[in-house]
Amino acid sequence: MLNDLAALYSASPVLFAGSVFVIGLVVGSFLNVVIYRLPIILEREWHAQAAELLPSDDHTATVPAVPPERFSLSVPRSACPACKAPITALQNIPVISWLVLRGRCASCKAKISARYPVVELATGLLSAWVGGQAHLQAYGSESPSFATRTIATMNGMVPGEGSA
Ligand SMILES: [Zn+2]
Repeated sequence: MLNDLAALYSASPVLFAGSVFVIGLVVGSFLNVVIYRLPIILEREWHAQAAELLPSDDHTATVPAVPPERFSLSVPRSACPACKAPITALQNIPVISWLVLRGRCASCKAKISARYPVVELATGLLSAWVGGQAHLQAYGSESPSFATRTIATMNGMVPGEGSA
């Protein structure tokens, strides 16, 4: 199974780069979540810390109340900022969903920034490029044993350096 996979990927740089591209798209989609949510998470933490440190009379006027609901990278589910309609899995496919929806919310038709597909596509393309370079270095000279070892090492089957 691992040998088949290694042989398949070592034989086809296009298949390998394509697979890395798809993984890169998914990573880019997650980066979009981080780009959007991390500043909000940090700001909420700072407000909470300020509320703890400042005397209760002083901070109420200047620091807005921290909303009680949980907000992290995974909670709550992604929603349209305009109408709060939840974004379904089908509407969350990197690049494709944005193109199919023509950059608009499926519910209220509010514009969705092109930044989302751009970040996804850039992450996918850069990943594919790095993957292609790695493929060239690893399989540039045909060596099935090296290919097998690389995939096996990536899967944690054998220790990396120094093992045959
Ligand atoms: Zn909407």
